[in-house]
Amino acid sequence: MNKFKKNPNYLLSYSIAHCIFFAVICLLLAAFKGFSYEVNFKSYDSLVVLLAIILCGLPSSVLHNCAHRNVGPRFTNDLIGEFLGTLMLYGYRGFTLGHMFHHKYPDNPEFDPHPPRGYSFLRFVISPVKATLIIIERAYFKFFGNNSKTRANISMQKTFFNVSIALKVLFWFLVFGLKYFLIFYLPLYVLNIFVFAHINYATHIENSEGNSEIINLKDGLYYKFVNLVSFGGYYHKNHHLRPQVFNPSKIIESDENYISYVPEIDLKTPKRSKIFELKLVNGLEQLSKKLNLE
Ligand SMILES: [Zn+2]
Ligand SMILES: [Zn+2]
Repeated sequence: MNKFKKNPNYLLSYSIAHCIFFAVICLLLAAFKGFSYEVNFKSYDSLVVLLAIILCGLPSSVLHNCAHRNVGPRFTNDLIGEFLGTLMLYGYRGFTLGHMFHHKYPDNPEFDPHPPRGYSFLRFVISPVKATLIIIERAYFKFFGNNSKTRANISMQKTFFNVSIALKVLFWFLVFGLKYFLIFYLPLYVLNIFVFAHINYATHIENSEGNSEIINLKDGLYYKFVNLVSFGGYYHKNHHLRPQVFNPSKIIESDENYISYVPEIDLKTPKRSKIFELKLVNGLEQLSKKLNLE
């Protein structure tokens, strides 16, 4: 976060570098490998889909550990982080920065990129990238001022960020070809997004007093399975208490409740609906209005 505070071009230079790098790589891949549109599904392709399902807990859990520098020496850690940030499209640097905000201000609607308070699950699933951009923008204006120069910088950051995402999608399409892009990359990506959105949604709760609290979830077949394939993803209270531990399921749980945020004013939000109810309630938008945030 210090580099972000010191350098107004910290994220812009990263997105520009990504755009140049992936534009060159895509051109080379298109020239020497070409596009593959062949589909021709075979029965054993179901094993590829199965592999994507089994691996779906890995990308974000390891990327998340890279953000905390828990994956070996710094160079290896960052290399793996860059690879997984590319796999998840939004990149390592922006994810790490957003995640540090999440740890510093958990459930605080002003600076946490994904407080689930007031969100329906489906709205929460599709919101983190946009919500992270809002938080980063808010922090950027706070550190560097809100003027025509900083507004132009933010606008360029968003443009290059979006272009870099499009180039990374093209990159994976060229790498996998249409068939494996559809039966391996897409299920891996989408399931990973759902699994990790639910980890955050289910472990950052509103307790009976209306405060935000972070809990561990470990009972039941689903939580046991995901905790196994994601290195303790649902042991989120443990993770917030000791982020430097690679697998928080290995920590002895504290008896004390972890209250992450106590609303100063009436921030009553709609009662949470069932997980798969098709509602798009946007908690951040509601809270921003109530707190008069820009
Ligand atoms: Zn959290
Ligand atoms: Zn973390």
